[in-house]
Amino acid sequence: MPRRLQSVLAYTTHDPDLVPGDFVAVPLGKREEIGCVWDEAEVVAARLPADLAFPPPKPVDPSRLRPVFRRIDAPGLPETLRCFVDWVSAYTLAPQGMVLAMAMRGWTPAPPKAVRLWRLASPGHPPKLTAARQKVLDAAAARPMSIKALAEKAGVSSAVISACIKLNLLEAAPSEPAFRDDADDVPRPPTLSASQEVIARALRDAVQKQQFEAILLEGVTGSGKTEVYLEAVQECLALKRQSLVLLPEIALSTQWISRFTRRFGFAPLVWHSSMGDGHRRRVWQHVRNGAPCVVVGARSALFLPFTDLGLVIVDEEHEPAFKQEEGVIYHGRDMAVLRARQAAVPVMLVSATPSLETLANVQAGRYRHLVLPDRHAGAALPDVRALDMRLAPPSRGQFLSPTLLSACRETLARGEQAMLFLNRRGYAPLTLCRQCGHRIECPKCTAWLVEHRAQRRMVCHHCEYAMPIPTQCPSCAATESLVPVGPGIERVTEEVQRELAGVRILVMSSDSLVSAEAARIAVTQIARQEVDLIIGTQLVAKGWHFPHLTLVGVVDADLGLNGGDLRAAERTVQLLQQVGGRAGREARPGTVLLQTYLPDHPAMKALVSQDFHHFMAQEAANRRPGFWPPFGRLAALIVSAETPESADALARALSDAAPKGEGLEVLGPAPAPLTKLRGRHRRRLLLRTRKGIAVQPLLRLWLQKLRLKSDQKIVVDIDPVSFF
Ligand code: ADP
Ligand code: ZN
Repeated sequence: MPRRLQSVLAYTTHDPDLVPGDFVAVPLGKREEIGCVWDEAEVVAARLPADLAFPPPKPVDPSRLRPVFRRIDAPGLPETLRCFVDWVSAYTLAPQGMVLAMAMRGWTPAPPKAVRLWRLASPGHPPKLTAARQKVLDAAAARPMSIKALAEKAGVSSAVISACIKLNLLEAAPSEPAFRDDADDVPRPPTLSASQEVIARALRDAVQKQQFEAILLEGVTGSGKTEVYLEAVQECLALKRQSLVLLPEIALSTQWISRFTRRFGFAPLVWHSSMGDGHRRRVWQHVRNGAPCVVVGARSALFLPFTDLGLVIVDEEHEPAFKQEEGVIYHGRDMAVLRARQAAVPVMLVSATPSLETLANVQAGRYRHLVLPDRHAGAALPDVRALDMRLAPPSRGQFLSPTLLSACRETLARGEQAMLFLNRRGYAPLTLCRQCGHRIECPKCTAWLVEHRAQRRMVCHHCEYAMPIPTQCPSCAATESLVPVGPGIERVTEEVQRELAGVRILVMSSDSLVSAEAARIAVTQIARQEVDLIIGTQLVAKGWHFPHLTLVGVVDADLGLNGGDLRAAERTVQLLQQVGGRAGREARPGTVLLQTYLPDHPAMKALVSQDFHHFMAQEAANRRPGFWPPFGRLAALIVSAETPESADALARALSDAAPKGEGLEVLGPAPAPLTKLRGRHRRRLLLRTRKGIAVQPLLRLWLQKLRLKSDQKIVVDIDPVSFF
């Protein structure tokens, strides 16, 4: 199977030693390509469940086959990973080649050499610098890099880099992570509380057994879930085996990484999409060699070639960020369970607010449920209150109610920190002409352009489109008629600066926290109390631990409830509970204030009462009768084409060919909420089935009936979690 190709191709070979998993050079048209020798179709079929099996390959005339050029002398793809590739392909209906390409990110024919990486020496402001040196520091702010990579990125000679090192502007990044069991300078792990110890023992036992078992580890924020699952990781290291920990926002998880490093005396192997190629290759080789290690990564780390996997952990298992929405569309959490099952090792799903899917698996007896009941060391859960915005609205043109503003003032006066959460980047989500009512939209998407005042641009959050902020209305040409509507975090920042004079603000969004280095600096500033108030998007929800933070204000708690998403309420509760969980994590108690126009909504009530399980029981009761997930299954078909007519025609053809039968139903076609995306016109259909009906064979048959024109495309999303 040459990579970047869709499916398995046949070749002949004279090499009797060639086995599945080997990498080979093969002819493809006039080119030479790298491929991976795949298992025979019967072998592939035998290791898949019957309803996922691939259709049999077309027979090829052996005389037309071309020979393999040669075997590449490098370790092959382990069988467990080939098996996983087949499974993911069969489950998601993505071509095997596309999945294999993910498993080969980081593959290289020759093992890479170790190189020294350099990072910014201190987050402080360096003295006045030459332009060239400034460029170097800017480049290094992204992530630690080799001298060569830094010189390339900054566009300077390597002499400039050496000078920066001499001047102590750059320092060597902690050496390449490796497993050590001889570290004697490692601080002893904390003594667990009695209830933590009970859970830790259960997790260690599960690791000891080395057989498949799925465990839900639930506990409120700050209850010590991380502490406890690190015990399981330690047990796995004691067995000299490999562990995989998936985190939803690993690129910024500097706190997690330093905590790990402090506890174990060596760094984990970090894996995510913004790592450089050299780093990727080293991790790939390390994992392939079977040496004991801990990989902490984004969902794509599932496709690393573990040869001695002993444990899989999915932290924040409820996070939608585990769903990959492009290319191979798969759910990292679900595929993690599968990966563990194939490797016959335990998998631990960790959350303060588990997904309904996982809770249903617990109920059905498929997953074991372990619960940490309280916050560690008697820290209280924050006091959560809903601020009814109908009763105490903010002043005209403002977004923070008087109650929230005075709570901020009081918190800061006590020398504590506050955080304002609004899940919206930029200045305002909509810009409107007061004269003619024109709304500034993306020319390529059904979406408003979002003003980013700091960058002086209007930006589409769905494609790359951006333009300068216009000075007159593009429609009626009126001047000074364009007004921002609604708040983004930049606008809230402006309001805070106006209302709370002298406050030191730190903004945390994907625009400001662009790298692990930026995150590291932000965390340091917060810990040193060089910051009074944090304003952030959903990035602030992720496992941060800010000891002095006691107040969390949610600017628009209703934001996520809009739109027809079946999980809107569940997600709102999960996200806001997680954000609120940042408050009062140490001795001083925390407060969470939710600005809402819907104080009676079940999601708000659940947040205030902090009775998550009661809320989830209601959610289950709402979804069960209609066979919505997890009580039935969904598969989405997203049709797109260059013209609306072409999209409609294909959607209609799909609808006409739709499968019929007991327990299944096709909803749509309907225009997608993003009717136009990157210039393509989109329609959606949704297949909903009872549990126990295999959707993949239905979909295969259904899709086979269609002939697509060159501008038309159908994307299949099994178990969709977003419906844009
Ligand atoms: P969670 O993952 O549930 O949010 P953590 O494991 O991050 O919880 O623990 C919250 C905080 O409490 C962390 O700072 C952690 O170091 C501390 N902590 C938890 N358990 C203990 C313990 N047994 N002894 C000392 N500190 C602990
Ligand atoms: Zn756009």
